[in-house]
Amino acid sequence: MSDARVLLVEDDPHIARFVDNALSAAGHAVTLAGTLAQATERLTDPVPDLVVLDLGLPDGDGLTLLRNLRTWSSLPVLVLSARAHEHDKIEALDAGADDYLTKPFSVGELQARVRAMLRRAQRASDDGRPLRRFGSIEVDLAHRQVRKGGEPVRLTPIEYQLLCVLISHAGRVLTHRQLLKEVWGPGHADHSHYLRVYVGHLRHKLEDDPTQPRHLLTELGVGYRFASEG
Ligand code: CA
Repeated sequence: MSDARVLLVEDDPHIARFVDNALSAAGHAVTLAGTLAQATERLTDPVPDLVVLDLGLPDGDGLTLLRNLRTWSSLPVLVLSARAHEHDKIEALDAGADDYLTKPFSVGELQARVRAMLRRAQRASDDGRPLRRFGSIEVDLAHRQVRKGGEPVRLTPIEYQLLCVLISHAGRVLTHRQLLKEVWGPGHADHSHYLRVYVGHLRHKLEDDPTQPRHLLTELGVGYRFASEG
C-alpha cells in the first residue's frame, strides 16, 4: 500500500516537514494538522488510512485525540514521542496507539514503521482464519493446538492464552499492563514479573534460540511485541 492517506498531527514545523517529505517520498498523500482542533476537523474529511500523532500540541494533548478516535475507529496510529518520556509512550499504547517512534528518528525507520502498519491494517480482514503461521510456528486456533516444525508443542492454558493475545496483535507493541489485563485479569495489571516468566517459557518452547528470540520480542521498559516475520 503505497498511496495511503496520512494525517500528520505535528506542531513543530521542522519535524512536520521531515515526516511529510519522508512519507510523500514513499508515495503517500500527507495532510498536515498543527493543532488538536485542526486534527479533529481533518480526521473525518475524509477519514485517513493512518495517523501520525505528536503528543505535545499547542491546544492540548494528542492523547485526547487518540482516546476520542478509539471510540469510533481502529485506524492505525503512530505516535511520535519525545526522548526520555517513557511514561508518555506507555500511556499512548494503553490509549490505543499501534506503534511509536522516539524523536529523533530516521527516514528509513519512519517509512518502515508506516509500511508495516499499513500492511497489518490490510491484513486485519484475514484475522478470522483459524490457522496462523509464523515461520516454523503454527497455531491452530480452532483446535487450540500449537506446532513447531510440524511437531506438537504442549502449552499450559496461561501460556496458550498469552500467545494468542500476542499473535492477535502481531507486529504491535503491547504494554505490560495490556497483556496482564488480557491474560490474568484487571487485578493483576502490576504483576509484570508474571510476564517475564511466561514469555520465558514460550521462548523456550517456540523459539529456535530462546536467547535470540525472533518472534517473542522484548520492548525494553514497555512490553512485548510478536514479530510475524522472524
Ligand atoms: Ca509538539
